[in-house]
Amino acid sequence: MKLQRVLQYAKTLLSQSINVGDIAVDATAGNGHDTLFLTELVGENGHVYAFDIQQQAIDSTLNRLKEKGVSDLATVILDGHEHISQYVQQEIGGAIFNLGYLPGANHHVVTKSNTTIEAIHQLLQLLKIGGIIVLVIYHGHEGGKEERDELLKFVSTLPQKYVHVLRYEFMNQKNDPPFIVALEKVKDFPKE
Ligand code: SAM
Repeated sequence: MKLQRVLQYAKTLLSQSINVGDIAVDATAGNGHDTLFLTELVGENGHVYAFDIQQQAIDSTLNRLKEKGVSDLATVILDGHEHISQYVQQEIGGAIFNLGYLPGANHHVVTKSNTTIEAIHQLLQLLKIGGIIVLVIYHGHEGGKEERDELLKFVSTLPQKYVHVLRYEFMNQKNDPPFIVALEKVKDFPKE
């Protein structure tokens, strides 16, 4: 198959954006799959900051990192990604969000457009030129379509002089398949 699946393409974009030695952010740690992948990209001289609002997700992510012997490469934080700038002040190479709910946990704890948008604002300030923020948008659950629509409205207004916005989506799959929105920073925003 020539067209990469959505989750594979998310990894491709992160690999193109994040170099060894970079700082990277997993904005929705969940079970830690992306956090682990980011530690592989940044290597021993880089660092990953991972956020989640559920203790279950933090524990699951910490366990995954420990199993692979890479706990030192990541800081896993029990707080909302809307507070990223309280924890990360350095330039970052890239970031990922997997929106929706934590598989195997309470389906009512879901990401929300207002906090996701606040986190994107903060990440765009920290992101290096050429860096990419990947959003994997799941919209099949309750509230998912509202979040999707608010996010699409927001990203489509980002000025193209500063950010290139890509949507990557299979259009003929059934059951609300996830799709990607990727933001590549091409120029520094004017200071606020
Ligand atoms: N990437 C994860 C993995 O590899 O398993 C899956 C993430 S899951 C789809 C979404 C996660 O976002 C949930 O664990 C949920 O607790 C978390 N979440 C919801 N609101 C959040 C917020 N404001 N800040 C950080 N995480 C949040």
